[in-house]
Amino acid sequence: MKIAVIGTIHNDGLEILKKNDLEVFEITNLDIKSLKKNISDVDAIVVRTANLTSEILSVCKNLKIISRHGVGYDNIDIEYLKKNKIALAITGTSNAISVAEHVLTMFLYLAKKFYISDKLTKSGNFDQRNNIPNFFELYNKNILILGFGRIGKEVAKRCKGFDSNIYVYDPYIDKKEILKNNCFPINKEEGLKIADFVTVHLPLTNKTKNFISFDEFKYLKKNSIVINTARGGIVNEKALYSALKENRIGGAGLDVFENEPPLKDHKLFSLENIILTPHNAALTIECRRRMSIESCQNIYYYLTNDKNLVKKNIIK
Ligand code: NAD
Repeated sequence: MKIAVIGTIHNDGLEILKKNDLEVFEITNLDIKSLKKNISDVDAIVVRTANLTSEILSVCKNLKIISRHGVGYDNIDIEYLKKNKIALAITGTSNAISVAEHVLTMFLYLAKKFYISDKLTKSGNFDQRNNIPNFFELYNKNILILGFGRIGKEVAKRCKGFDSNIYVYDPYIDKKEILKNNCFPINKEEGLKIADFVTVHLPLTNKTKNFISFDEFKYLKKNSIVINTARGGIVNEKALYSALKENRIGGAGLDVFENEPPLKDHKLFSLENIILTPHNAALTIECRRRMSIESCQNIYYYLTNDKNLVKKNIIK
């Protein structure tokens, strides 16, 4: 059987497929024409971030499973998969820790205003160390987690280590489950009003697009910090820019953008109180290896009829 890997992945995953006599080839040219030409006869696809539209997928005659190297699947036409009985798998156990650590790094960097301290020290202004405005601790602060799935829960665990108060907005999760994790359920508006830190862990859907936009920024406290490592567009970039520019919030961190890669002259690049990373929260060396292995195992188990072993990762 033939497997296409769209994008480059860690070798340890590829080895699983190869040693089980599955024919594997990588596609690095993501141009639509070249994709269509290369995937027409494959049985399975591992995909990183390439958009797999119905137009592209319609050339596949033997496709049985798409395995996402990651957990978000807004780049894949789910309706097409449902209609054509093609399975979709994710790497559900691979990347929550890496993303949670990324969030905590952003929290601390922004709360401690490292971007100012570093500049002062390197520019010979050591004696101005008392003049950095409002830098603060995570201890005893209110953290609002939007979306209490795999990543939201890992963030909560780590914030507990800082003795923070953790609030969760996720209407799809039983309140008892939230309380069991030593967090407090809260509604969105109340949560935004009391939060010192807000972190987004929602999938991108029609309901979550612009989940934090102009109205929501009005609720936030002046020194609050907003982090989005989920998907671009859940936090509206124009609204975020004005909140930061007018110092209506304390700072922000983004790993994801409405358009990726963002344009070179993106307005957010001109601001100091924001930290930006290139959608690499899940790209630590450990996580890359885990995602590669899990995405390839998903295919191997599925195609060799060990479907029980992959059940937890199958979305549709
Ligand atoms: P998950 O499915 O485990 O959790 C998502 C949670 O969001 C669920 O508990 C769900 O109930 C909740 N939710 C859905 N819609 C909601 C709504 N309208 N309001 C409130 N809650 C809602 O997903 P996860 O593994 O925690 O990942 C979350 C998102 O993070 C993914 O969808 C993905 O897009 C993104 N992600 C980004 C990176 C990165 O590299 N930056 C890596 C992994 C995941």
